[in-house]
Amino acid sequence: MCHNVIDGRYYTVCGHFYSMATKVQDCLRPNCLFSSRHPVGCRSPGCVRQMAPPAKNPIRESPTRCPDCVHRERNGILGCH
Ligand SMILES: [Zn+2]
Ligand SMILES: [Zn+2]
Ligand SMILES: [Zn+2]
Repeated sequence: MCHNVIDGRYYTVCGHFYSMATKVQDCLRPNCLFSSRHPVGCRSPGCVRQMAPPAKNPIRESPTRCPDCVHRERNGILGCH
């Protein structure tokens, strides 16, 4: 099954992930509707019609909190402590 790969930045302190770009990982199976190997015009009910869950690909890592968490902390709405 094909799936989306989400390139992004991972903030190691808070564990949040910010996506920057999404690309499709082709599984190259002729029985998968999303693959470039799938024959055009094929209407076989046996073909895979679903994509697998997206995979996160952290191409950057920041040893900080994400902008959202920094913003929230500044405003003092971090929840109960
Ligand atoms: Zn596929
Ligand atoms: Zn097909
Ligand atoms: Zn965060």
